[in-house]
Amino acid sequence: MKSGQPSDGSQLPVMEQFLTIQGEGIHAGRVAYFIRLGGCDVGCVWCDVKESWPLDSHPLFSVSQLAENAKHSGAEIAVITGGEPALHNLEPLTGALHQAGLRTHIETSGSSALTGRFDWVTLSPKKFKLPLQQAYQLADELKVIVFNQHDLKWAQQQANYVRESCALLLQPEWSRRETAAQWIIEFAKAHPRWRVSVQTHKYLNVP
Ligand code: SF4
Repeated sequence: MKSGQPSDGSQLPVMEQFLTIQGEGIHAGRVAYFIRLGGCDVGCVWCDVKESWPLDSHPLFSVSQLAENAKHSGAEIAVITGGEPALHNLEPLTGALHQAGLRTHIETSGSSALTGRFDWVTLSPKKFKLPLQQAYQLADELKVIVFNQHDLKWAQQQANYVRESCALLLQPEWSRRETAAQWIIEFAKAHPRWRVSVQTHKYLNVP
C-alpha cells in the first residue's frame, strides 16, 4: 500500500485513467474506461509499463471520483488494470462502478488475492510470480503472453487449472510480435481451443 493510502480501499493510487478501446482479448474493440492502478510486485522482465511499479509515484484518487469519471466518459465498461491491481482492496471501487451503472473488468496476474466484484476477469499469469488458486477459478479468459517458445508449453499447463468455460488466448509479447505470432499461429492450428490475441491498440496507435 502507498504511504498515506487508507486500507479500506476508499482511495487508490492511479497512474492513469482514460477512455479508449479495449485492444486485447475477447472484448477487443469495445469502448472502455481504463483505470490503471499503481503498484506491481511481479517483475516481468519484458514489462511495458514499468513506470507503474512504484506505489508512491502515483497520486491517490477517491473511488467516488473514479466512478464519476468513468460514468461521465460514457463507457459501459470500466477496465481496472495496472500494475497489479489485486494488490489493492477493490471492493469499494467495484461497488462504486456498479452503482454508476458500469460493468467491471479486471486484468490481473492473479498473484495477489482478488477483492471486489467483477463481471469479467482476465487472468494473465506470469512465470515471475505464479497465480493463486483463486485466480484460476475466477478467470473468464486466460491470456498468456508469449515471449519464447517455452511459453507455449507453459500456457498449456496453466490451462489445466482454469474452468472449462474459460477462453484461452495467446498473445505475442510486443517486442517479439512477428516471431512470436508465427509460433502462436502454428500452435493454435494444432490446438484449436486456443485463440490468437494481438494488441490491436498498438497497431492502430490508440492511446
Ligand atoms: Fe508489468 Fe503486468 Fe508483469 Fe506487473 S504483472 S511486471 S505490470 S507485465
